[in-house]
Amino acid sequence: MLEIDSVHVESLSVGPLGCNCSILADLEARRAIVIDPGGDLALIQERLRALDVAVSAIVHTHTHIDHVGCTSELQRASGAGASIHEGDRFLYDILPLQAALVGTDVPVKADLDGDLRDGHVVRAGGMELAVLHTPGHTPGSCCFLLREGGAHTLFAGDTLFRGSIGRTDLWGGDPDAILRSIHARLLSLPDETSVVTGHGPRTTIGDERAHNPFLRRR
Ligand SMILES: [Zn+2]
Ligand SMILES: [Zn+2]
Repeated sequence: MLEIDSVHVESLSVGPLGCNCSILADLEARRAIVIDPGGDLALIQERLRALDVAVSAIVHTHTHIDHVGCTSELQRASGAGASIHEGDRFLYDILPLQAALVGTDVPVKADLDGDLRDGHVVRAGGMELAVLHTPGHTPGSCCFLLREGGAHTLFAGDTLFRGSIGRTDLWGGDPDAILRSIHARLLSLPDETSVVTGHGPRTTIGDERAHNPFLRRR
């Protein structure tokens, strides 16, 4: 994988559930990848304007409503492709049901492709974002790995939180699968890997390996 050291990464807490939406920007090529535009379109667009970057790709760690809430508006404004893992397509089809559960309006549907397959690499400018399929929170949950200058940043969605893991009691959730995904795909990363979680504070793989009570081997 190409390693560049000029990727700007910032995360914004968006929407009523505080989803962490991340903007990855190649400031030289003036290109961005947006992960999980769950809401607050104006805030996301304000940051894109401030960075002076155009959106090349919109990707989703999964398709719970708090992570896809303003995908269609951002897609329309930017003309960028928007991608999910095909395993979450059924969740996108029941957006009205998800909206009723959360008590929000039903978002306008985006035009989503199912390109997020395990091993796929999302490219924009000089950036390369590797897709890890990590089912459990939802069947199509993915994490994204950015490598730059020897450092790793993982965008974990609702698979891994600081001191916790994602819930598995919603549509298609699987408690065994999420633990398999985390142990096999995430804890195999270097300790110093920085983790942007789907909600709440950042963490590192090393901290979660040492302290996360949900990940103790029995
Ligand atoms: Zn979720
Ligand atoms: Zn979430």
